[in-house]
Amino acid sequence: MCSFVGFLAISLVRAINLLLACVSSWIVTLPVVSFSLGALSYFYDVSAINNDIVFLSLVSLVTFGPAIISFFIFPIGNWIMDHQLGCRRPSKRESDLLNQIRTTLLAASKKNNIRLPNIIFRIQDTRETNAYAYGSNRVAFTTGMLREYAKTENQIELLAAVAAHEIGHHKNGDCAFWAFGNYVLFPYKASIYILNMLFSWLPLISYVNLAFINLINIPVHVANFLDRSISQFVEYRADNVAARLLGAKHFADVLNSFAMADEWSGGGVLASMQRSHPASELRRDKVLKDFPPAPSSDGLAAQTVQ
Ligand SMILES: [Zn+2]
Repeated sequence: MCSFVGFLAISLVRAINLLLACVSSWIVTLPVVSFSLGALSYFYDVSAINNDIVFLSLVSLVTFGPAIISFFIFPIGNWIMDHQLGCRRPSKRESDLLNQIRTTLLAASKKNNIRLPNIIFRIQDTRETNAYAYGSNRVAFTTGMLREYAKTENQIELLAAVAAHEIGHHKNGDCAFWAFGNYVLFPYKASIYILNMLFSWLPLISYVNLAFINLINIPVHVANFLDRSISQFVEYRADNVAARLLGAKHFADVLNSFAMADEWSGGGVLASMQRSHPASELRRDKVLKDFPPAPSSDGLAAQTVQ
């Protein structure tokens, strides 16, 4: 997909996606605010909320207020997402390693004239080999990935290539979208929890409650489906940033190691559309095609990346 058409398609899908998430969250929050006001009216004077406009504004404030605060006040949103993902600050020896990665990235940024966000590294304690970009400026490595790459000769270059891909998600606006989509569903999740607590044990009313929640879940499922349907394009775009920043060689080597762990057994057309990442072999092909390695010293074009 040509990059501009891809960008338009991703933007359109995301606009629909966010709209669906916002509408679902607002609708499910509405009865909870209404019940809360009913309960509060026994103890306090709530007559100030005396018309539909004031009430609907209050519902909107409860639905979108937390998302707007978390999104625009970065330390709050980042702190929440650190805890959601179980990510911590690095230890002393992890910081030493991450500083070397940062130095490599900054040198490449200067050389290739590509501005980088002010990245804060985080660590997730799991044996899984993975890395994440999230919040306004976070890049997290799993301890599994740090230890896996510690066995290699060019550990810093490989981890810098992984970080460059994650930085690509920040530069492409993916993290901003993911963050707002995450924050706007806080009231949605809390409201469903409250509705279930209030009504799931009452005869008959529990069925009405279940039907309402299932109905309101549909737009969120559609939004998740749409998000996963564009995920592979999003990954290719982040790969492009990584290769532009650091060149193809080390990122191709990273994808080579990912390819050894790739597993995908299909499951149907819809399942294939939902695959979050393209096959690492195909990502590697694309990176090498778009950013061919420099000719080798004997003048022949390099055919493979060593
Ligand atoms: Zn990615």
